[in-house]
Amino acid sequence: MTAMKIGVLAMQGAFAEHIQVLREIGIEGVPIRLPRDLAGISGLILPGGESTTMRKLVDRWALREPIEHLIEQGTPVLGTCAGMILLSRRIVDGDEPVFPVLDIDIKRNAFGRQLDSFETDLVVPLLGDRPMHAVFIRAPVVERAGPAVEVLARLEGGRIVAVRQRNVLATAFHPELAGETRFHSLLATMAADHDEPGEGSGPARRPAPSTASGSPDGNRRAASS
Ligand code: GLN
Repeated sequence: MTAMKIGVLAMQGAFAEHIQVLREIGIEGVPIRLPRDLAGISGLILPGGESTTMRKLVDRWALREPIEHLIEQGTPVLGTCAGMILLSRRIVDGDEPVFPVLDIDIKRNAFGRQLDSFETDLVVPLLGDRPMHAVFIRAPVVERAGPAVEVLARLEGGRIVAVRQRNVLATAFHPELAGETRFHSLLATMAADHDEPGEGSGPARRPAPSTASGSPDGNRRAASS
């Protein structure tokens, strides 16, 4: 079995931090700049940054079609902040969608001036009882989630800030800036399951049991650190 690699779109924003979190859970993060960098990856991370800039670069670097293709094939993807915006089917206020795979309406810069950036602790039930430290930086919020969308986390007051739909995971916040590894571990588990599907399973709906073949051994450790 070859070691799993996860691609991290390396245009701008927090891509180095994502690669560092992957390293912490024992996975090689591959910076993605060219279509050929996508070869051999088992999952993909679209980091934060500025979604309007990233949209332009996706086309300039000829990455739109190959990434679309990967997502269609069921390759697990994690989008954080601007990455979540890139994965949304509808961007409130009019921007054209980029990879319209999440059936959500997303509002950019949803917290306004006063709350431009803030940190809070969130419970993400799928990832355990221990609250997750979440860093929001000019973050978006999910204004509507369709019936196929699993809501993974809400802020107090109910605003949706993390979702999953089939092979696509997205957070409005930056787990990688808080040293949080659980979303990356979940992505890795989904990627292992996609590489070597278990009995009749399609894209993972929940983290595969730790006995799953190819499951990275960093998972449990990471989830309890
Ligand atoms: N405000 C940015 C946007 O709309 C996202 C910010 C981030 O990724 N931290 O694209």
